[in-house]
Amino acid sequence: MSIESNQKVTAGHLKRDAYLYVRQSTMRQVFENSESTERQYALRQRALALGWPSDRVIVIDSDLGQSGASAVDRAGFQKLVAEVGMGRGGIVLGLEVSRLARNSADWHRLLEICALTDTLILDQDGLYDPAHFNDRLLLGLKGTMSEAELHTLRARLRGGILNKARRGELHCGLPAGLIYDARGCVVLDPDRQVQETVRLLFQTFARTGTLRAAVKHFRQQGLLFPKRAAAGPHKGQLVWVHLSLGRASTVLHNPFYAGAYAYGRGRYRKQPDGRYRHEHLPQDQWQVLIRDAHPGYISWQDYETNLQRLRSSAKALGFERDAGPAREGPALLQGRVVCGLCGSRMHVHYNIRRKGGMITNYVCAGRTRQYGDPLCQSILGTGIDAAVGKLLVEAVTPMALDLALAVQQEIAARLEEADRLRHRQVERAQYEADLARRRYMQVDPANRLVADALEADWNAKLRALAEAQEEYQRRRAEDRLVVDDTERRRILALATDFPAIWHDPNTPQRERKRMLGLLIEDVTLIKQREITAAVRFRGGASKTLTLPRPLTPQQLRATDEHVRRQIDELLDEYTDAQVARILNEQNLRTGAGGSFDTVSVKWVRYSAKIKSLKERLLDAGWLTVKQVSARLGLSRTSICKLRVQGKLRGRICNDHGQWLYWLPDHMHSGPSMESTVSVPLLEMQYEN
Ligand SMILES: [Zn+2]
Repeated sequence: MSIESNQKVTAGHLKRDAYLYVRQSTMRQVFENSESTERQYALRQRALALGWPSDRVIVIDSDLGQSGASAVDRAGFQKLVAEVGMGRGGIVLGLEVSRLARNSADWHRLLEICALTDTLILDQDGLYDPAHFNDRLLLGLKGTMSEAELHTLRARLRGGILNKARRGELHCGLPAGLIYDARGCVVLDPDRQVQETVRLLFQTFARTGTLRAAVKHFRQQGLLFPKRAAAGPHKGQLVWVHLSLGRASTVLHNPFYAGAYAYGRGRYRKQPDGRYRHEHLPQDQWQVLIRDAHPGYISWQDYETNLQRLRSSAKALGFERDAGPAREGPALLQGRVVCGLCGSRMHVHYNIRRKGGMITNYVCAGRTRQYGDPLCQSILGTGIDAAVGKLLVEAVTPMALDLALAVQQEIAARLEEADRLRHRQVERAQYEADLARRRYMQVDPANRLVADALEADWNAKLRALAEAQEEYQRRRAEDRLVVDDTERRRILALATDFPAIWHDPNTPQRERKRMLGLLIEDVTLIKQREITAAVRFRGGASKTLTLPRPLTPQQLRATDEHVRRQIDELLDEYTDAQVARILNEQNLRTGAGGSFDTVSVKWVRYSAKIKSLKERLLDAGWLTVKQVSARLGLSRTSICKLRVQGKLRGRICNDHGQWLYWLPDHMHSGPSMESTVSVPLLEMQYEN
């Protein structure tokens, strides 16, 4: 080999560096298999023997403890490839070089680059020149073998695990409320509090039927829920946390609570960036499901019922409804408002007015959804929309021309994106219809009840599919209209005449929202004494607007100050109905713009805390018939008679015709009223 080696190593190679790549895939190997590491470092001597000076042998060992299954996350390997690619390497050294990369693609890329840059490869078996066909074949074979070895290892390992899981003997992380006993069997957690709390969740869900209500119940009662810490210093220990919607959903979906053993309910999919993403699988694709494997909190039937209920309410929950393409509604900032208090996205809530039109409210239900808390904040949108629109018009004018083309291109792209999103909905409807059909096909026809329900479900899904398709076609046609020639000219004019387009009543609100979307990333709202709206433009600029708090509907409908003062004055003499009549004669109007009646005068009294005629009279010393009868010892009838005879002064104090009486001072004391009645009586001041 030495002769051949010496032939392969040329002066050109020796001028460049030698790279020694050292790797152990796990930290455990790094500690336990130190001999292998030593052998890897010993390769350095080989490089020196081949003629490289010791200061040119560069050791790359930053990947110690990293698996070779992929080049991603292995900075050392990437550095090696980069150095070789730039032609700085004369030789690459490694123990069993094919293990440099356990992934064929990475390995072959390295070979290719070595061949191109005339870099040699050396392992404990020999020296190779990847530019030579024979050497390259050998190296390629080594790489393939190495990958195959990894595969076999993995398959053997997996097979063992799966076999154990099929028997239900593979221990997996149990949810809170279940534990392994001394024999390794799954039993209910003997901790009473844990058991009762888990039971309570299932009971509350059964009672209320929605996850949100169950979560809210926990919240209102101030109850915490047990959770097994998945990581960190307390891994595996029980901790008590607030019950969130997500956690409650996980609990209801977990078959272990229904006494079933399940394995392989999800899988990890590799992403293009090398990371793994977890996917939940539908129940029929679970690898192992053994029912009645251990005691549970609910029966299997309850479990399935719960899932069915969750599915039916899942649509209404719609977490994704807050973002997404611009929709038709008048709320300008739809999908772009963020709550400044909790950071959730705020959604739009429309109130239909009785007189027509809609009132926009931006509502943050972030913590309501998560924890069943009360609404975080709700802000009337009209003022904010106007302010942001104004800001936009001011901000856009100077940078108009640059924007022109970008806007046009973006609109086309946006339309496409919206189209794609809408098509997704069609696809989803299609999928659901297919699913419903499959479910219907699979059910035993003898099971009439289920079959009927499934058939109805299938029909509903088909209808939904047809609607989705129709909607999709309609929107598509509309979008085409938007980008046709005249519209294109209009959009182009946007650059030079953005304010005009913005204010043009013919511009559809959806278009306005799209333009806004091109310019503004999001708007963060906080309602305190005043409303703060932090507008973040695309490209990083930001601007904070401060707006007064809008008047509440009550404030909007409040009666004018001077009318209120007049009512106050009139009430010294008149009852509510009389006040209303006097106000109407003067053509005065209520805050809402209507004429006055007893109810509206009463309402003004209540809201402005103005005393009624009766209260004023009582304060002034007038007495009710009851009080007079107590003082004078007379029956109600006698008092009435005295009044009619003109011997007692009385007046009506409200619209129900209630009388109040005025007693002269000397009448207050004695029961001998015969003498007192002769006091000259005043005429009744008012009679209705
Ligand atoms: Zn919030």
